[in-house]
Amino acid sequence: MPVIAPELDQETNPWISAAARFDEAAARLRLDDGICKVLKSATKEITVHIPVQLDDGRIEVFTGYRVQHSIARGPGKGGIRFAPDVTLDEVRALAAWMTWKCAVVNIPFGGAKGGVICDPKMLSDGELERLTRRYTAGIMDDIGPDRDVPAPDVGTNDRVMAWIMDTYAMHARHATTAVVTGKPMELGGSRGRSEATGRGCMIVTLKALKRLGMEPASTRVVIQGFGNVGGMAARLMSRAGFKIVSIVEYDAAVYNPHGLDIEALMTHRAETGSITDFPEAENIDKNEGLYQQCDVLLPAATENVITSKNAARLRAQILCEGANGPTTAVADQILADQKIFVIPDILANAGGVTVSYFEWVQDRQGFFWNEQLVNDRLEEIMTASFDAVVGYSDKHAGVNNRTAANMLALDRVASAIRTRGLYA
Ligand code: NAD
Repeated sequence: MPVIAPELDQETNPWISAAARFDEAAARLRLDDGICKVLKSATKEITVHIPVQLDDGRIEVFTGYRVQHSIARGPGKGGIRFAPDVTLDEVRALAAWMTWKCAVVNIPFGGAKGGVICDPKMLSDGELERLTRRYTAGIMDDIGPDRDVPAPDVGTNDRVMAWIMDTYAMHARHATTAVVTGKPMELGGSRGRSEATGRGCMIVTLKALKRLGMEPASTRVVIQGFGNVGGMAARLMSRAGFKIVSIVEYDAAVYNPHGLDIEALMTHRAETGSITDFPEAENIDKNEGLYQQCDVLLPAATENVITSKNAARLRAQILCEGANGPTTAVADQILADQKIFVIPDILANAGGVTVSYFEWVQDRQGFFWNEQLVNDRLEEIMTASFDAVVGYSDKHAGVNNRTAANMLALDRVASAIRTRGLYA
């Protein structure tokens, strides 16, 4: 089917991409107009202007957002991003994605997301802490273990979560660990959380291999992004016997047809600051990295890397979307025409939010699980969710995995809204 591509800036607007997929899933479900209207707009959008005293004495004002897309199935859940290119549209789209993601893996959360327009690399530790605490104070009335539970995202980490938890707790007058997830272990973090997203990617990829009659030992994997998600996926998949033939980063890409030694590559990057010139691999053109012949392509870096302009160049059998929104809605049809088996982001990278859910449960119980229990429960949820999505796609003609995931999610959220009814 020919694809009519809009202008690239329209195509890569995450809110427009999210809306296109929503419309398709809603039309197939014959969702009534009223419920569509409810789900097409966020429940609440908060904008805060955050004054921060910089180290040199000047005052700067940053803009931050917290968007709660839906709280129909439970408290809002979603990360906080600190980045210079944060926009309200992006935060809106990411909040909606969280609603669908939590519904796909059937955990009792709605969807939310936060962001602050800032460059954390340009801020000192003290400035970052003051910014985080003042942002937290600005959104304080709307977050909480039963309201909305933030987590780390691009540009934030466990230390930022500790500051949020502390700020919230000082106002609540008691330690409230369940207000955020992705915390340090000593503040109620969960075992297995830092590996969870990469582990989830591996679990669903193994399920896809089984379905396609493939074996890990003969499966060539190309991973874009060697950070939390990509690095952990690389490490765990390589231990499970996959051949990770290439890692593509923003500044370099390396290739070894026999499979990279991931631990050695991590050490090399820690020592040199880059993956380039790794002695046991060949440097290749980073701009061509995504187009290598492989069995599994795992984008785990950033949004919009697969668009109408380059989707036809992919040469993978399986696309496992570790990143959020790596593929634009317009590129979906091109991947379908190429018969690429897509494991969509709201399923593929849901391991992170699933273990965040486990963290929230453990904090509320005050009872902590061992790592094996976390991993076993994660595997149970990822496996069941993969089966539900792929089974739904098998049963409905013309419904690919992404549409199936969106339809399942939308149906669950719509059903919760109908069952609750509208207040007043
Ligand atoms: P990260 O910052 O730890 O890692 C991202 C890596 O990608 C970095 O090494 C960076 O250098 C690299 N990168 C950035 N732009 C690139 C480009 N254009 N080409 C190649 N490499 C590039 O971030 P992360 O936590 O691993 O998140 C990656 C993606 O996964 C994001 O889209 C995030 O929203 C999504 N995600 C993360 C989690 C999680 O638990 N961390 C969960 C779900 C989804």
